[in-house]
Amino acid sequence: MDADAIVIGAGAAGLAAARSLAGRSLRVILVEARDREGGRVWSRPGGRAAVPAELGAEFIHGRAEETMALLRDTGTAAIDTAGESWTRSKDGRLQPANDTFPSSAKILEGAHSLADDESVDRYLKRFQGDESKRETVEAARAFVEGFEAADPAIASARAIAAELLSGVDFASARPLGGYRPMFERLRNACASAGVQSCLSTVVRRISWRTGAVAVDAKSSYGETRTIRARAAIVTLPVGVLRHSGSGGEVVFDPDLPAAKRKALEYIEMGHVVKVTLRFRTAFWERIQAGRYREGAFFRSVGQPFPAYWTQVPVRSELIVAWAGGPKATALSNASREEVIGRALSGLGLLFEEPALPLKEYEDAVMHDWSRDPFARGAYSYVAVGGGDARAALAASVDNTLFFAGEATSGDGQGGTVNGALETGERAACEAATALGAMAGNSRS
Ligand SMILES: Cc1cc2nc3c(=O)[nH]c(=O)nc-3n(C[C@H](O)[C@H](O)[C@H](O)COP(=O)(O)OP(=O)(O)OC[C@H]3O[C@@H](n4cnc5c(N)ncnc54)[C@H](O)[C@@H]3O)c2cc1C
Repeated sequence: MDADAIVIGAGAAGLAAARSLAGRSLRVILVEARDREGGRVWSRPGGRAAVPAELGAEFIHGRAEETMALLRDTGTAAIDTAGESWTRSKDGRLQPANDTFPSSAKILEGAHSLADDESVDRYLKRFQGDESKRETVEAARAFVEGFEAADPAIASARAIAAELLSGVDFASARPLGGYRPMFERLRNACASAGVQSCLSTVVRRISWRTGAVAVDAKSSYGETRTIRARAAIVTLPVGVLRHSGSGGEVVFDPDLPAAKRKALEYIEMGHVVKVTLRFRTAFWERIQAGRYREGAFFRSVGQPFPAYWTQVPVRSELIVAWAGGPKATALSNASREEVIGRALSGLGLLFEEPALPLKEYEDAVMHDWSRDPFARGAYSYVAVGGGDARAALAASVDNTLFFAGEATSGDGQGGTVNGALETGERAACEAATALGAMAGNSRS
């Protein structure tokens, strides 16, 4: 055996799992397809900008205990999101936004009592014709598309209700200076605990029987190798797992049990287009006598990019344009230049200054997560009828294959960095127990 455990994928879940296993004196090999750790967390230094651009995760959602502990270890502060919200009204003018979240959450929570699950689309149609609820229903749909990155025609109304009722805290913050230092800390903790890390190594086949796993992987130099261990922790994104199986990119031999394949049918990968625009100056702070100087969040209903945000309370020259769910899919065939063009023209429309964003524009960064073969989407959501699919995906197989990653997070933290970290710790505990390792000291 080359190791006690192989951890597949070095995103948040894989790094947390590897660190935890190695902290228990187990021999761990971490295999990652990309040439970097972090997975769907990818910070790009800001150049002249005050903050880095986050191509993937940017916010810390809710209490996020694992994330906060890591930030403390790293010496990084978390800054609560703050500032004003504005929304573009029908007459095209920006108005201070009402907080529609409590009422739209209440409508969505009502789906909890549905006898049979149904799509968010269908569920929201029940309120059609009730003019007093029109704005709330629109906001509920925008939440499902924008925040959950989900297609309302596919997303489970009951799963969203369960998430909202689980007491998830929707407050958000950002790591000051971005996620990168925290991930460097995690990576260093893995290295100093003895984790052997193989980057640029794509897993092709996972052959397994009780107590033994052989992983065939190919390096970027074309070299193929087989790594053997007593167990594996699989943190592949659900989009990649759905493409596994015979003829897929990653083959399980023998294939995953039927319950696991069924669970995978009910967990969808949501889509997001996130464009970080960098400008010469924060021009929006000056226009209209400084009206938007404290603007943090801007909604632009019906536009290709329905949401924009600044970095307030941190001052910077960055604005993020965000489209989730069907709005992201609608942009999927546009070229990079077209996408950036639409983000810029949407911003011009928002501020009633069509020429200014173009005049001030410096550059933009974005990444196509949907076409990325190692992600195949942004983050997961549960489809109609998928009640306990996340738990079924999380279940271990024969005390040999263990599963982690945001999609296996069952306590309302699916789709988040913290959910991924937590599942990595959880899977490491399961694997350590199975391997008969001594528990304890999982943090370095
Ligand atoms: C645009 C965007 C914005 C987001 N915003 C937020 C946010 O603000 N806050 C938040 O909490 N979350 C956010 N998320 C979600 C968050 O990034 C993810 O939930 C989290 O990072 C997932 O971690 P993970 O370890 O489960 O998966 P990943 O980070 O995807 O890790 C899995 C790893 O497996 C590797 N891999 C894939 N295939 C193979 C293979 N064949 N062989 C070897 N390795 C392989 C991948 O390269 C990857 O490194 C966002 C995501 C995106 C895309």
